[in-house]
Amino acid sequence: MSIKRTKMLAVLKERKAPGVNIKMVPLPKLQKEEVLVKVIYASICGTDIGIYDWNAWAAGHIKPPQIIGHEMVGKVMNINTSSKTDIKIGDLVSSETHIFCLNCYQCQIKNYHICENMKLFGIGRNGSFAEYATIPLRTTWKNDAKIPVETMSVQEPLGNAVNVVTKARVKGKKVLVMGLGPTGLCAGAVAKAYGAKEVVGVNRREYRRRLAMKMGFDWVVEKVDPQEYGTFDVVLEMSGNRLGIQIALDAARIAGKIIAFGIPKENINIDWGKYMINKELAIESVFGRMIWDTWKDTTKLLVSGKIDLRKIITHRFKLSEFEKAMEIMKSGEAGKILLEP
Ligand SMILES: [Zn+2]
Ligand SMILES: [Zn+2]
Repeated sequence: MSIKRTKMLAVLKERKAPGVNIKMVPLPKLQKEEVLVKVIYASICGTDIGIYDWNAWAAGHIKPPQIIGHEMVGKVMNINTSSKTDIKIGDLVSSETHIFCLNCYQCQIKNYHICENMKLFGIGRNGSFAEYATIPLRTTWKNDAKIPVETMSVQEPLGNAVNVVTKARVKGKKVLVMGLGPTGLCAGAVAKAYGAKEVVGVNRREYRRRLAMKMGFDWVVEKVDPQEYGTFDVVLEMSGNRLGIQIALDAARIAGKIIAFGIPKENINIDWGKYMINKELAIESVFGRMIWDTWKDTTKLLVSGKIDLRKIITHRFKLSEFEKAMEIMKSGEAGKILLEP
């Protein structure tokens, strides 16, 4: 498909400072082994808040000027490859954020998601908060056309949740979900879909607890008191909060399992002897999605209708209204926010 335009609207991190610039920029040039897409929807991730505010993590990962945004669905306009691919012009594709190198030890053993030389889409290179974007062919995911288009943009948190819940092996288990951000919300829904006996969510915000009930949690609480609720076979630690992690350690039963997903902003002290030795807790961690196994499992959940991500899409904005969308995102009173270029 030929594109006659030469300029497009984009959300640009132009300076090493808080805020963004929303402006017209040249269309991206398609490089070798890349796909050019017309962005249909992009969605805002928690990471984008830190980038917007220019926190220490963003300062270490982004080199302005750069187009930000990594969650998206777009229509393939052009492909530049010399190898065989099943991706065709007109396909609806999403991007895997973790751009792997294919050469390191982890890539050789197919652990692409924890590549030693990983680059990040919309973080270490131009991303999806724009009318057009280019994606490396090797991190382009062809969506199943049976999935509602608006939810194709929101598969990153669901994929994280699928990876977390798969590792936790929840069938027949009593599960606690600490923290109800988008991935926590999805984790509860996936745990139910994968046969958990009971799924309890914890969040201090009523808004988020209500979203959790919509996603199929059995019940939600503001605080979990092990004295009152008993202990859990599995705790999914999605909050990355110091207090949340402490509660996870106490709420897990003896020889229970904790999956660590939420990333703390500070160093965390653990009473190693009490929890790791005396209590024989199994603590495993999850980073991102298995490429492409998690995406395949995510597709099954979406196509079967077992998970409906439309329940967590709470707002839609034009791309030009990015700053308004970011304000709502920061308030905490939002599920996923879709942007339409
Ligand atoms: Zn993200
Ligand atoms: Zn690698």
